[in-house]
Amino acid sequence: MPFEISKELVRSDFIKKIEELSGEEISACYHCGKCAAGCPSVDTMDLLPNQIIRAIQLGDIEVLKTSNTPWICASCYMCYVRCPRGIDLCSIMEAVRQMTLRENLDHIDIRVYTDELATLPPIAVVSAQRKLSS
Ligand code: SF4
Ligand code: SF4
Repeated sequence: MPFEISKELVRSDFIKKIEELSGEEISACYHCGKCAAGCPSVDTMDLLPNQIIRAIQLGDIEVLKTSNTPWICASCYMCYVRCPRGIDLCSIMEAVRQMTLRENLDHIDIRVYTDELATLPPIAVVSAQRKLSS
């Protein structure tokens, strides 16, 4: 079924909470694509970082819940540095993750085995644990 934009979806509690948690003005994004062009993780994302913002602008909650993009985002802040509107996409991705976790939907299964643990950079472990916890 095609997605239909409605006032109820655009201003749903889920969307309003993402704005509140991130502290970002979602409507400020004009989709120049500079964030996506500089994102080091974009090759493995199913949606570009600015497409996540677009889904929020349209109130497309299903896309937000099912996309792997917020879970692959490494919170590196490259997009924030490049954004001409000063939008902190890292906080938006974190807010989407938080809202998804609050609905008890897990998107990644972290399996860190003892022999791998010694070779991983600590920040990778901390980042993965943060994404798994609500
Ligand atoms: S760089 Fe900023 S304004 Fe441009 S698409 Fe990304 S978030 Fe939107
Ligand atoms: S913070 Fe996330 S979305 Fe932004 S550039 Fe880094 S990996 Fe990409």
